[in-house]
Amino acid sequence: MIMTALKQTHARISRLDRTLIIAVVLLSSIFPVELFSNTPPVPKGFDGQYSGKQGQVLVVKVKGEEQATEVKGTFLKRTIPFFREFRPGEPIGYVGLLGIDMQDEPGTYELAVEVKQGEQAKQLSFNVLVAKEKFIVEHLKLPKEKVDLDEKATARWKAEQEQVKQALAEDSRLKLWHSNFVEPVNGKRTGIFGSVRIMNGQPRNPHNGEDIGAPLGADVAATNDGIVRITVDHIFSGKGVFVDHGLGFYSMYFHLSEVLVKDGDLVTAGQIIGKVGATGRATGPHLHWGVKLNGARVNPYSLLELPFKNGSSPANSIATPSSETTSALEAVPVKQ
Ligand SMILES: [Zn+2]
Repeated sequence: MIMTALKQTHARISRLDRTLIIAVVLLSSIFPVELFSNTPPVPKGFDGQYSGKQGQVLVVKVKGEEQATEVKGTFLKRTIPFFREFRPGEPIGYVGLLGIDMQDEPGTYELAVEVKQGEQAKQLSFNVLVAKEKFIVEHLKLPKEKVDLDEKATARWKAEQEQVKQALAEDSRLKLWHSNFVEPVNGKRTGIFGSVRIMNGQPRNPHNGEDIGAPLGADVAATNDGIVRITVDHIFSGKGVFVDHGLGFYSMYFHLSEVLVKDGDLVTAGQIIGKVGATGRATGPHLHWGVKLNGARVNPYSLLELPFKNGSSPANSIATPSSETTSALEAVPVKQ
């Protein structure tokens, strides 16, 4: 009698257990992320802090996520894809290049990073301090028709902007670039990235690239491996080339006298893609070199100053926040 009662109780518990297990399995297949992220949200900036000036590039490193299947950051509504990094003798980590746009307002903003592992996801939070860069003011005198566009020229300019937007709408999801960046032309760097421009006495958009003075016909090289997305002959940029290096990183080369590549061509770092010229809105022969990183207009020379050396990945720590020349700053970790 007692034995029978015990057996019945045992059977009931087993049934209850089974029901509970099934319920949990079902729930976790419907709400896998919610179950995983039941842990309280991390305070903002908990995982580290970065700082940089307007127009600079930061190397963001997420360590110890060997099992991660995707790592993605969000900074000022821009998406920062991360890529896997391997260095001999060190655990695998993920690295992202974060561009600070030349017109991002100085202040502290959150870089939220989502680390996915299959169905599961967890959040990391970094603080990014954006510091003001001192941009120069340029006064330019240009032919009137190059500054005050008539209706026809305005329509042309708008159509050209749309054409570029369409051509660059889909980034290559493959990382095509590697760590050895090339300066595209041997010439005089003018240091006018981000300059406030006054054309014929009227304030205009800031200068979104760097100009390099070089003789007419000098070779222009691709800064890194990539795919030519579009070649143009536009009212302002003149003859130009847009190269997609993957993961939201583009480089642009304007005012060329000659373009030596076609849309869709694969190019390698150092490959000659055109010749220096003065086409479009230019006062004399020079190369306008521009770089966009996930939508942010950054100083192209920031790429050359990244802590990448001879195929290796980012250096571990460059903590020189006061340096004028170092554009890539590693995180100051608040926890390991
Ligand atoms: Zn320029």
